Amino acid sequence: MEKGQQLYEGKAKKVFATSDPDCCIVSYKDDATAFDGAKRGTIAGKGAVNNQMSNMLMQMLEHNGIPTHFISELNQRETLVRKVSIIPLEVIIRNVSAGSFAQRYGVEEGIVFDAPTIEFSYKNDDLHDPLINEYHALALKLATKEEIDTVKALAFQVNDILKAFMKTLNVDLIDFKLEFGRSSDGSILLADEISPDTCRFWDSTTHEKLDKDRFRRDLGGVEDAYQEMMRRLLEQKD
Ligand code: UDP
Repeated sequence: MEKGQQLYEGKAKKVFATSDPDCCIVSYKDDATAFDGAKRGTIAGKGAVNNQMSNMLMQMLEHNGIPTHFISELNQRETLVRKVSIIPLEVIIRNVSAGSFAQRYGVEEGIVFDAPTIEFSYKNDDLHDPLINEYHALALKLATKEEIDTVKALAFQVNDILKAFMKTLNVDLIDFKLEFGRSSDGSILLADEISPDTCRFWDSTTHEKLDKDRFRRDLGGVEDAYQEMMRRLLEQKD
């Protein structure tokens, strides 16, 4: 499928039209940002890792009954996906305290929850993606009640599947962010990406961070962490 006009450029990806109005091409960049764009940099090879990892995980989720936007991988950095209109909610699931949860509630990182938590952020750059609850999302007509219920159920299912899968890589799934979209027929599909940019992955044995926190917190070994996650995925596949 030919790459058409660029529709959108985000912090980590570009989206292009194709000759099919129901399909887009996503192109992953090495650019990285953190802290609402205040920290910028590049992570060599990140685009290729995130593209391929996200595709492998989306296919694994599809096999487990989760509808996703994935169609086919075109090359190391580019993927053909179903065109969706993104529901402007970032859906965050947490299994273990970390990041903004630990900060907001003044607790240490690494507390294992008895049950996963869910929260939403309103995807709005001008407002800096504020936390939002379901009632406010409904009041703002960001999604219908039915859509929010679907998104919540899917997000918890994704957590169960992804957490168990990551365990086979000796990785603990600490937390992650999902985005969902509406396809032309109105169905809700898992969209965006699932990668070390959008998940916290800790080695189960050493608790070493294998995700974007190495970039956010200047921990060093950023590229190596992304490559290590990819290596474990590919090893598991063989
Ligand atoms: N996350 C994301 N994009 C965002 C905010 C968060 O992908 O704009 C992911 C982040 O990588 C982590 C999870 O969502 O896996 C929870 O992030 P948190 O709320 O702790 O925020 P952060 O510490 O990243 O500011």
